[in-house]
Amino acid sequence: MNWYTEQWSTECKFSIKYDEKLYSEKTPFQQIDFYKGKEFGTFFTLDGLMMVNEKDEFIYHDMIVHPAFATNPNIKKVLIIGGGDGGTAREVLRYSSVEEVIMAEIDERVFRLCQQYLPITAETVEQDSRMTLLFDDGLNFVKNASDASFDLILVDSTDPISVGEGLFTTAFYEECYRVLNKDGILINQHESPYFAEYAQNMKKAHKKIKDIFPITHVYQYHMPTYPSGHWLFGFASKSYDPIKDIDINKWESFGLKTKYYNTSLHIGAFSLPTYVKEGLDAD
Ligand code: SAM
Repeated sequence: MNWYTEQWSTECKFSIKYDEKLYSEKTPFQQIDFYKGKEFGTFFTLDGLMMVNEKDEFIYHDMIVHPAFATNPNIKKVLIIGGGDGGTAREVLRYSSVEEVIMAEIDERVFRLCQQYLPITAETVEQDSRMTLLFDDGLNFVKNASDASFDLILVDSTDPISVGEGLFTTAFYEECYRVLNKDGILINQHESPYFAEYAQNMKKAHKKIKDIFPITHVYQYHMPTYPSGHWLFGFASKSYDPIKDIDINKWESFGLKTKYYNTSLHIGAFSLPTYVKEGLDAD
């Protein structure tokens, strides 16, 4: 019997039974492994951590994309940092009002292998004429981008280890602030509040962003295959507040069918459990 096992904390592991290991490759950036099982379908891991699987990817990709569009329905220029599986780009490209999407993913092999093994996320994005795929370090990309050139930045990265580390630094968040226009929104990984190591990452990311952006919130979603299942994104903005400014009628007029996100959930997602609020505010 084959089990993929991931260490969620020093005292806790998570396992998924799989039928077949589809592919393995060590790139200059990370170890990539694809598996196929009955419960979660095809899934892939980077350096032994679950990234995307066919069964719950809709939760992550709905939640990284749609809250920003419901807050500012006029988003036209989008930068995705990371996101090599293509799922975030797929959701952004559903908005016909979007004019340009740039994805800066450090590892081209992630995208190419997802085109082959995970078409549910990667199949359609490259054909869209609004899409530019760049295989570059996200930190490097933002350093060289022009001031006020994006309406929205979505940081769809790995954890703050190895190649993903630079995407959790003050220097990176400052560059994001600079390249966002006056109404710009940044959505970024805030990790998880539950296990100590992830909660530390959550707190650090939040503190750095709060020192740079005038409006900052954290919102939650339920991700069955990420450590503890309880995950967070950060919402930082120069002018829009995701709770006060949500434009429910406009977002609903887009007629997008989503399986996880809806506008009632949007408001609830920003209401955090007490221990999470305390963890975010702790020194
Ligand atoms: N949903 C996922 C999660 O939270 O586990 C994220 C998936 S996506 C595949 C993460 C991507 O970020 C990877 O493809 C990785 O190569 C990319 N990445 C990591 N560090 C990066 C960097 N510095 N610049 C650009 N892309 C980066």
